Amino acid sequence: MKLFYDLHVHSSLSPCGSDEMTPNNIVNMAYLKGLDIISVTDHNTGKNCNVISRLAEKLGILVIPGMEIQTKEEVHILCYFTHMDALDAFEIELDQHRIQMLNRPENFGNQWVMDEDDIKVEDYPLALILSVSISLDQLKALVEKFGGVIVPAHVNKSSNSMLSNLGFIPETLDLKFVEVFMNAPAPKSILDHYGLLKNSDAHTLGIISEPENSMELKEKTINAVIDFLKRRTL
Ligand SMILES: [Zn+2]
Ligand SMILES: [Zn+2]
Repeated sequence: MKLFYDLHVHSSLSPCGSDEMTPNNIVNMAYLKGLDIISVTDHNTGKNCNVISRLAEKLGILVIPGMEIQTKEEVHILCYFTHMDALDAFEIELDQHRIQMLNRPENFGNQWVMDEDDIKVEDYPLALILSVSISLDQLKALVEKFGGVIVPAHVNKSSNSMLSNLGFIPETLDLKFVEVFMNAPAPKSILDHYGLLKNSDAHTLGIISEPENSMELKEKTINAVIDFLKRRTL
């Protein structure tokens, strides 16, 4: 079946995410847009995923447990998991690699963990705008330990991407998919070599994708999406 997705959306928990990106607003906008599958990938944390997943389920939208990690190399990597438990366990390990600097909301933005009624339950204390002290190789190993898959984010963007920061995509990472930023040209070598994810990277509600990017899956399940990203079938 053909399923429309947007696997890169930021909530109010990301410092750069608008305060309007509450769980209910995200899910309702995804519903209005006609999306089948979404992933909320906040910077270096997944603490709003569970709530968003429960709300989305009521509207028939599948949520992939996810996160956008900023590695030591300042490269952004999307990480997707098969279960919320795996995402939570991954985050507990990630906590050992955080730089212990507090967020300054007035400079960097709010970091709101929210409940199902869009009530703030916590100001996430540490600055999520910073990298975690973990390398690309270490990240791949850690995500795979929890059964997940990595997809480099916006590889063709001029900052915080593999191409901007490394200049190339390491073969050793054995990647099947990369995410391409739709508003910038991408090298043909990348377009030809990898499966391509096209997401909104929405930090505000209206930017969440229209139903224009789809994947062909046998069933609408998290496992089917993760398998698709692990084993590209052309
Ligand atoms: Zn990013
Ligand atoms: Zn992002």
